[in-house]
Amino acid sequence: MMNQVSNQRDSMRLRYPDSLGERSNATTLAAALGGPVFVVDRVAAPRSRPGILLLDDDPFMLGVQSRMLLDMGYPKVSTAGSAEAAVRMLQREKQTFDVILCDLNMPGMDGIEFLQILNASSFGGNVILLSGEGVRIMHTVQKLLDGGRMVILGVLEKPAARAALRAMLDCWRPLIAAKPVGPALLFTELELHAANRERQWVLHYQPKVDLKSGELAGMEALVRWNHPEHGLVYPDSFIGMAEDCGAIDALTEWVLQEAMAQLARSHGQGLRIQMAINLSMENLRAPDFAARVGTLARDLGVSPQDVMLEITESRLMSPSPAPLESLVRLRMQRFGLSIDDFGTGHSSLAQLRDVPFTELKVDRGFVTGARHNQIIRPILEGSIGIAKRMGMRVVAEGVETEDDWHLLREIDCDLVQGWFIGRPMAEDEVPLWLEQWELRRPHLVES
Ligand SMILES: [Mg+2]
Repeated sequence: MMNQVSNQRDSMRLRYPDSLGERSNATTLAAALGGPVFVVDRVAAPRSRPGILLLDDDPFMLGVQSRMLLDMGYPKVSTAGSAEAAVRMLQREKQTFDVILCDLNMPGMDGIEFLQILNASSFGGNVILLSGEGVRIMHTVQKLLDGGRMVILGVLEKPAARAALRAMLDCWRPLIAAKPVGPALLFTELELHAANRERQWVLHYQPKVDLKSGELAGMEALVRWNHPEHGLVYPDSFIGMAEDCGAIDALTEWVLQEAMAQLARSHGQGLRIQMAINLSMENLRAPDFAARVGTLARDLGVSPQDVMLEITESRLMSPSPAPLESLVRLRMQRFGLSIDDFGTGHSSLAQLRDVPFTELKVDRGFVTGARHNQIIRPILEGSIGIAKRMGMRVVAEGVETEDDWHLLREIDCDLVQGWFIGRPMAEDEVPLWLEQWELRRPHLVES
């Protein structure tokens, strides 16, 4: 399921403009606004640096943090002493601000109300919560705001430490153009069955690399629908429907066939990698599923040890023992079994207890930005500890920055996957990615 989320985010990122466009002078704006707003804008902002708005009712805090940001090399910092003032600034000059650092506890309109207004508006920028309320409260506020166009980069306790603030600001993204999002695509049963008949599927591959050596360890095969009308469609738009209408079996069979054939080709070219393939729980209900997968691997000359089957339990496991039987039979044939999106939905401790998994894949929600996050970091470290003690290999997904990469090395994770390493790509893009990765790799595995 998280693949689907990542794909959705992937496609969102592709809509980001390449440059930020012209910005007007914030100093003029602030002068026009008056009131509790002042601006510490000294140099015209280079395009790579975000325009920052600091919102806090404490003038001392505004002074300290804005000086610190200027010192850190962020030349364009504006401040607002109340949420009302910030709303006025944003109404007049929304495009000036890429990142808002927002306090929560303020007299008048508080931070929660301010951010909800922002979330309902066309503002598509980035927000960092900066408050003295404690990280657990801030995290809950972050959850309240999820799902809007606004990107919450993270939460920090006041006063923010330089390193933590820089790590979060490094993750800022240019404003999403305020384009209306089209209605979600809905497909019919007929279209899905036709897609199976006409083989309208295509696989993309996302690299998994070894944290110690930096070597390419495997690829995860991710399916897309090459739709005759809509172009490339991501799995979040059709997997649920395929499960409901019984099209999932033929779809998975195609994926297995195609991904294992690709694996055989890679091995033929001397690339000793594993192939990860996502299965639906629905696939596992068929009594002969494990046998069919085994036959397919044999026919293609692929060794089961080189195939990692990723399983997400998005629905409650039915009382029927069929899925468990399939999993045991797959494992007895030496296929790898990975518990995908661990920590979310039903990918839980009970599944770890009951299924002979060989790999634990920590969900991105416990990985991205973990170094400076006091809530997710213990969960990440705990998950790695559990996996190691159970003799399983651990993969972290959602590695987006060099900081994420180094933290995972420090806490003894085995493999990583994420945009920092490489996005899902078509088969013919892999050689170029590999060439570029080999150039980045030595620096990342030093020490
Ligand atoms: Mg997966």
